[in-house]
Amino acid sequence: MPKLKKPALHTRILLGMIIGILAGVIVKQTISDQETIDTIVKWVEPIGQIFLRLIFMTVIPLILSALVLGIAEIGDLKRVGRIGLRLLAYSLIVSSISVFIGIAMVNLFEPGNSLTPETRDYLTQEFLDDSQTAAKNAAYAQERTVGDVLTNIVPKNPLEDMTRAFDSTYMGGGLLAVMFFALIFGIAMASVDPVKTAPVKAFFEGLYEIVIKIIGYAMRLAPYGVAALLFNLTVNVGASFLLVLLKYVLIVLAALAIHQFVTYSVILKFFAGRSPLKFFNKTGEVMITAFSTSSSNATLPTAIAVSIEKLKIPKPIANFVLTIGSTANQNGTALFEGITVLFLAQCFNVDLSLTSQITVVFLCILAGIGTAGVPGGSLPVIVTILVSIGVPGEAIGLIYGVDRILDMSRTVLNVTGDITAAAYIQKVEEKAGQGSLELPG
Ligand code: ASP
Repeated sequence: MPKLKKPALHTRILLGMIIGILAGVIVKQTISDQETIDTIVKWVEPIGQIFLRLIFMTVIPLILSALVLGIAEIGDLKRVGRIGLRLLAYSLIVSSISVFIGIAMVNLFEPGNSLTPETRDYLTQEFLDDSQTAAKNAAYAQERTVGDVLTNIVPKNPLEDMTRAFDSTYMGGGLLAVMFFALIFGIAMASVDPVKTAPVKAFFEGLYEIVIKIIGYAMRLAPYGVAALLFNLTVNVGASFLLVLLKYVLIVLAALAIHQFVTYSVILKFFAGRSPLKFFNKTGEVMITAFSTSSSNATLPTAIAVSIEKLKIPKPIANFVLTIGSTANQNGTALFEGITVLFLAQCFNVDLSLTSQITVVFLCILAGIGTAGVPGGSLPVIVTILVSIGVPGEAIGLIYGVDRILDMSRTVLNVTGDITAAAYIQKVEEKAGQGSLELPG
């Protein structure tokens, strides 16, 4: 008998989500004794929690290694001259535009506010220690002034911020401060003699690889974790959450489409002197690779080949911009993270003050630099942002079941954004009359 092939991980995660919801609906409809339901829920709960904890476990080492390396690479660029700075400026501006598109959409349609009061009560009780913590978190997020946020970003003791990063009673900078520490560390590392810092850089490179591997282990548990989380949710509140989730998915896809086809077209037409239609035609192969692998890093070879052969971008620019861009210029990811964080804040009734919204924007832009270009690379970063605005990090479990399709789509944007950046830099360099560029080949 032919052996059945195991479905791909993302198919299994989707199946996990469907099975979890169906089982939840069946249990809710067929068992009337609440005590029995509570017992089942208690047994299922650890599966979801272990999966979430595996993701949590990676947050601190991932932020440290990805940000230090990302910034250090941009720092290297600086030495190569204006191209590095230009890429940095481009990346910050275009990522900001993408975050604003996302935040505008989520504020306009408010997907999280369509939750039934029953679901919202359940979420608050399930994910927050008690309702007092919820109120405190919300009040704390409201109370902080811009001055508090800015001061706390600079850590007195980065180790304390690392160890108390998920403690909702901690008043310091937490993950935000850890990010700041990594940022300064990366900048300083890029500014001193590379021979002396080589072992430190190698350490962070090794750390990064190991953390990515651990995320891979967590992903393997994802089908069961997602099934367990959605089972418990459906048993408690029915399947009404699904409609809200669908609204959220559609909003993310629409915002990504706007950035892909409007923002990039404007940049291509007016800043890179290219026909957007021809550009999208020629980069189809890259977009399909990005969509199917969900990884900017895995798409890098195809992106470089297409940019050089079909778009005629000079090899040094293509190599340089696309390699750095595959980790440090992720507009789709920044957009997605903004929407997701605000959506989950709406779900948990955390009313975000202007300060918190500014924090979200700032962190998402930074996330465009610090997110690993691998499938699901955003998820630990979202946990970081959630915690820093008073939403429980575990809330990420709610969207995990639908993340694959969003991941595939945002990766397309990430990669298209890198090629657009390369086309723009090519144009500026040509204008400046720099035919031959002294860049690493
Ligand atoms: N999968 C994305 C990429 O590789 C990263 C993410 O947003 O999860 O570009």
